[in-house]
Amino acid sequence: MITLNYDNNKKSISIPTKIFINNEWVDSIDGNENFSLINPTNEECLGIIGLGGRKDVDRAVEAARSAMRGKWSTMAPLDRGILLNKLADKLEEKREEMATIESINVGKPIGESFVYDLKQSITFLRYFAGWADKITGRTIPISSSPDTSTPTRQVLAYTKQVPLGVCALILPWNFPLQLLMFKLAPALAAGNTVIIKPSEFTPLSTFYLAQLIKEVGFPAGVVNIVCGLGSVVGDAMSSHMKINKIGFTGSTKVGKMVQNSATNSNLKHCSLELGGKSPIIIFNDVENLDLVVIHSFHGLFWNAGQCCSAASRIYVQSEIYDQYVEKIKKQVELRVLGDPLNKDTHQGPQVNKNQFESILRYIEIGKREGATLVCGGKRFGNKGYYIEPTVFSNVTDVMTIAREEIFGPVMSILKFDTVQEVIDRANDSEFGLVGAVFTKDINKSIIVSDQVQSGLVWVNSFNIIDPSIPWGGFKSSGKGRDASEYCLSVWTETKTTVLDVKL
Ligand code: NAD
Repeated sequence: MITLNYDNNKKSISIPTKIFINNEWVDSIDGNENFSLINPTNEECLGIIGLGGRKDVDRAVEAARSAMRGKWSTMAPLDRGILLNKLADKLEEKREEMATIESINVGKPIGESFVYDLKQSITFLRYFAGWADKITGRTIPISSSPDTSTPTRQVLAYTKQVPLGVCALILPWNFPLQLLMFKLAPALAAGNTVIIKPSEFTPLSTFYLAQLIKEVGFPAGVVNIVCGLGSVVGDAMSSHMKINKIGFTGSTKVGKMVQNSATNSNLKHCSLELGGKSPIIIFNDVENLDLVVIHSFHGLFWNAGQCCSAASRIYVQSEIYDQYVEKIKKQVELRVLGDPLNKDTHQGPQVNKNQFESILRYIEIGKREGATLVCGGKRFGNKGYYIEPTVFSNVTDVMTIAREEIFGPVMSILKFDTVQEVIDRANDSEFGLVGAVFTKDINKSIIVSDQVQSGLVWVNSFNIIDPSIPWGGFKSSGKGRDASEYCLSVWTETKTTVLDVKL
């Protein structure tokens, strides 16, 4: 159990931290009982949690498999939707606690976790609650009936979208609860059972959610949680012979490993939401450059730059390039770094020491390779993993900071002249998650959004994210879609019945 104190020790939240199987908290069989969670704000130990091992995964799989055969399998789809809505109600009720946990564990400002992460999590549950009884199949007209001489004979073919079975959800640390909901809500709406592996760095909101899942009445074994190291628990899941699907969100490097073990074990289904290096393209005809600056600023610096969608390549047309750089610098100067639980804080620390050191290394590489440091560029303060919001101008396509995912508050601004040139340069990346174009010319906006190779392109905005909008990448940014009606196909299988009807 970890207890978090907040509001000057006037309030506290207690969170169980073991393995959650069959709606019970159990000790790990073969994991590591002593993993320290570090508070990124002050580098102190938040508490010790128990990590799971391979045998815990086996145990969770058995629970999830038997739940697939139990009352979950016969529950009316509408009732699955009602349970998801009850969970959404519970999250509304516990919104403050949940947002606080997320802010303390991840280091994200409470203004963001309360307003954004919790709102999205609740909305995702409600959206997919609505889908639970609307996942339908088709009837198919048949042309090749084997016997046309019998007039009363008909062949009826129909499809159903059936659950896949036991799904493992492997998650990153940047939006622990919200990204869990991207997968948990549709997986359950479609009738699957799940085993969740939160990031070992940020499991607390998932642990807290487990209690709410039990309280609202999900049958035992439908949702299980095994937190552990990726190389142990994550690997045991992707190579498991009795898991039917992996829903993975994380880095491209690990995503490829997960895909390989998923294929080489039992050819299980696998959907992957991976890294990005997203471009924003700003044409010199924009009407309100100040607004564009705000959009692109948040596009990169939101969540301290720890976003898969982070707009880390900003292409600005030559005529307005200098003006844009000047305005971004002014915007950065207004950014308030500090305690994530303080409502006035805009940016908290990076999530952990590894990320912190990796980002500072990228900043040094940027300087060494000849980009111009406009502002920031170093640690903020001397305690906690804080990094100053950093902007580089005169960045070229070959520089490391323009090619690799930094996953921190580091903006690269590049200059371009023509439409085709910027499309080709934006596409010269292994990634293809999202992108944006800013222009008042509708023709340009359509041409650029059609040709930029990414799963989603915003026009004159950034980061409009909604459960009804498909989410997922092209190229090394992943495969399959989270969110929206489109994701239902990654949580179900098509089952066809062909019926020979004769009198
Ligand atoms: P990561 O790949 O290091 O870890 C993600 C998860 O995989 C963690 O739970 C980790 O424990 C687990 N894992 C690690 N090694 C594993 C292995 N061998 N087998 C199975 N699982 C393993 O990523 P991260 O550092 O937690 O998150 C940051 C990355 O996630 C960034 O690249 C970011 O772009 C990406 N991301 C993508 C999206 C998206 O929607 N496309 C959203 C958020 C984050």
